[in-house]
Amino acid sequence: LADRLAQAQKVQALGQLASGIAHDFNNILQAVTGAATLIERRPDQPDKTRHLARTAIEAAGRGASITQRLLSFARQSEPRTEVLATAGVLENIREVLAHTLGSTIQVRDIVATDTPPVLADRGQLETALVNLGTNARDAMPEGGTLTLAAVAEQVGGDGPHPSGLAAGEYVRLDVSDTGTGMDRAILAQASEPFFTTKPPGQGTGLGLPMVRAFAEQSGGAMAIASLPEAGTTVTLWLPRASTVVPTPEDSEDGHMLTGA
Ligand code: ADP
Repeated sequence: LADRLAQAQKVQALGQLASGIAHDFNNILQAVTGAATLIERRPDQPDKTRHLARTAIEAAGRGASITQRLLSFARQSEPRTEVLATAGVLENIREVLAHTLGSTIQVRDIVATDTPPVLADRGQLETALVNLGTNARDAMPEGGTLTLAAVAEQVGGDGPHPSGLAAGEYVRLDVSDTGTGMDRAILAQASEPFFTTKPPGQGTGLGLPMVRAFAEQSGGAMAIASLPEAGTTVTLWLPRASTVVPTPEDSEDGHMLTGA
């Protein structure tokens, strides 16, 4: 547990670092935009100069939208927990992943329509599942199958649960791939912040730690099972909502790819 807390603290520290950088960067971009706007407006400047100033203003605007994204990512620490229809969320994600992971990867979901709803932040859950989907794709360079499954699970009070879950009613989400899998040594470190086996620029080592932090902050847990050459299953337990299932969500969610 001490390890997990240390990890959660690292992820939080990273969020603070990111938002600090985003703020500083915003100030710099504002200075650039201000100066370029003054140049653009000066009638004594040649058209070419004013045109270049406009290019700078537009580039600074794109930079500002990136810092905005970084800031909203860092602010994720305040989750908006709501009752989510499990089958609806997984169906959305299956569609998104089917379109984004490439044609060699088959994506399927195994969810009974009467699977109980979960209590979680929708954006965070979607981001977590997309993260797991991209990891699965990276583990299947020659193609394969990605399966999203959900089932209700009751955790009893008889002895501690291997994942540290408290007794209660959960929905268990399994994201499985038929990829390279992980050996013992990699599996042991996989959810450490900054641990990555991917080439620089492709891996940050923050995917699994963030997914774990999301599951635990939601009152659930994460576990990984993996076999070299066979594949990997990442399991998330999320608290089951006791309320009735809300009406199915509309399937067009524009905001789910930002964390991919
Ligand atoms: P990143 O994807 O940026 O490397 P993660 O924290 O998501 O960061 O994953 C850490 C490491 O765990 C990966 O570099 C990879 O070695 C391993 N890993 C994660 N998911 C899988 C998977 N589905 N199959 C095989 N290895 C995986």
